[in-house]
Amino acid sequence: MRVVLVGAGGRMGRAVAQTLAGAEDVTLKARVERPEVAAPVDGGAPWGHDLGAFVARGDVVVEFSSPAAAAAAAAVSAECGAALVSGTTGLGDSEEEGLRAAARKTAIVRAANFSLGVLALRRALATALGAVPASWDVEIVERHHRGKQDAPSGTALQLAREAAERRGYPASALRMGRAGRVGARPDAEIGIHALRGGTWVGDHAVVLAGAGEWLELRHVAEDRTAFAHGVLAAARFVATAPPGFYTLDEVASAAAR
Ligand code: NAD
Repeated sequence: MRVVLVGAGGRMGRAVAQTLAGAEDVTLKARVERPEVAAPVDGGAPWGHDLGAFVARGDVVVEFSSPAAAAAAAAVSAECGAALVSGTTGLGDSEEEGLRAAARKTAIVRAANFSLGVLALRRALATALGAVPASWDVEIVERHHRGKQDAPSGTALQLAREAAERRGYPASALRMGRAGRVGARPDAEIGIHALRGGTWVGDHAVVLAGAGEWLELRHVAEDRTAFAHGVLAAARFVATAPPGFYTLDEVASAAAR
């Protein structure tokens, strides 16, 4: 499997490159970055800023970059017949639509969080929501490093949306922080709170609060290999999958078969 990595100089790009280097069935074909980012002197895979110049039919493009670069990578991948693993968060509606359109022509795995532990957290949350009374309040606290660009995290949004859907709450039930005289908490609300500081890689806690008791489900990513292993599994999956838009759940189910 030949992989072209977009955002190769970033925190995730470097972690993914390291994990791919340990996989015998993978060749890192090229690394793509913004023109402003100088190539490292490490004897590694070719480095450049034009994805189209590197990618060929049958390659797998892996991107952890920016929302605009994610949409561009999807378009180039679809055009060149390459599959895509996309991990950038904070995409706008038109960028999300760009990925969906590209997935009509090629296989794309997209996940706000490639950690298999977060996949387990999402499944545990679904179980917990079915086990506690519907009156219990749901709140989410996420912590990330000070350099993170988007808030709340894509993972916190996904956890909140899935909980809201399970509870039958409207999309407007998601509440990003509270300030001022907000009044008592409505029943159909899911609060999301984003902490930023230091070097936290990714920490998500879901609190289910009842009267006189509460339960917390929490996942902590200690380093970025937590995501990189899921990325490798997703790359192996898309390399042979027919065109379509896939989630990490589908990757994990295929791996379990
Ligand atoms: P980062 O800022 O360290 O790295 C991003 C890299 O992308 C930078 O080196 C930047 O120069 C490069 N880049 C930006 N635009 C580009 C373009 N047009 N072409 C090529 N390269 C470009 O950020 P990070 O911590 O690595 O995170 C990147 C993204 O991945 C963020 O959206 C983050 O939220 C997300 N993320 C997702 C997961 C997941 O599991 N899905 C995990 C961690 C981070």
